[in-house]
Amino acid sequence: MPASDVLKRKTGVIVGDDVRNLFRYAQEHKFAIPAINVTSSSTVNAALEAARDANSPIILQTSQGGAAYFAGKGVANGNQEASIAGAIAAAHFIRSIAPAYGIPVILHTDHCAKKLLPWLDGLLDADEAYFKEHGEPLFSSHMIDLSEEPHDANIATTKKYFERAAKMNQWLEMEIGITGGEEDGVDNSHVHVSRLYTQPEDVFAVYEALAPVSPNFSIAAAFGNVHGVYKPGNVKLQPELLGDHQKYAKEKLNSKLDTPLFLVFHGGSGSSKEEFETGISHGVVKVNIDTDTQYAYLIGIRDYVLNKKDYLMSQVGNPEGDDKPNKKYFDPRVWVREGEKTMKARVTEALEFFNTAGQL
Ligand SMILES: [Zn+2]
Repeated sequence: MPASDVLKRKTGVIVGDDVRNLFRYAQEHKFAIPAINVTSSSTVNAALEAARDANSPIILQTSQGGAAYFAGKGVANGNQEASIAGAIAAAHFIRSIAPAYGIPVILHTDHCAKKLLPWLDGLLDADEAYFKEHGEPLFSSHMIDLSEEPHDANIATTKKYFERAAKMNQWLEMEIGITGGEEDGVDNSHVHVSRLYTQPEDVFAVYEALAPVSPNFSIAAAFGNVHGVYKPGNVKLQPELLGDHQKYAKEKLNSKLDTPLFLVFHGGSGSSKEEFETGISHGVVKVNIDTDTQYAYLIGIRDYVLNKKDYLMSQVGNPEGDDKPNKKYFDPRVWVREGEKTMKARVTEALEFFNTAGQL
């Protein structure tokens, strides 16, 4: 039975029960869906093209900074207005173009720390307006990340937001424990190592608080994750800890499922296949990828510019003659496309790596 069999909506942006059914299917079939950070229509298309050609579902997400970039760097963002408008613009673009690729897409927003909550407030306003008109939220899911706050405050505030999302049958991802490193201006590189590993009791406390509201949530539990690529250091990734969380929850819930929790893998750049496989075997359904696809997008453009340099220095005139036009070399559809090709290749690699390829 392919994954599309568990979906009511088989192509385009999926919401509600479809999201949960797809994640449960992923657990049963031991794969995780890559969540690709997108910042433009070009990066959206590169990711969609990879997923279509691999016959895979995909998750597209905007970070707070990525959403502002989507709006345009010229738009002021003092009150998150660019991040709100940009994420909404990305959502409408993805909603309209995804069916053309013929695959299901989960539309998500990435980390929202406490200081960025006005961003999430604006997105939920947009979800509710969309829900009024269409009976579903604009976004499939959001992430709230209050992991830097005290444990109880994290759970209480997350629950408040989840109650609002649950009215629209929307998915929520939350973080507990801290992902180290630095992303989008949030610098956790100073955090004590012990906070980079979450305990089973703490993870289960999240489950107990959120499960009565709705089953549609996932937990990014820290197991030594770090954003960005780092040289091997004193923080060791321990994805086997996720198995302890599942075991603890299974016992407490007396669940038939070996992986009652939906888990998310952050900060996986540079992780080994074995580490991902361990995570997936313990119920990881989503793996975030940003650093690697950012670099992949550059490769095609960088190599193009370096190789075609003599065709790019003026509109007319190149090694083939002083009167030869260079328009077909400097057209953005040519050189931006080269970045899309190399980014697509990196997304394809991820889809194969996480066993997502061919699941539809
Ligand atoms: Zn993250």
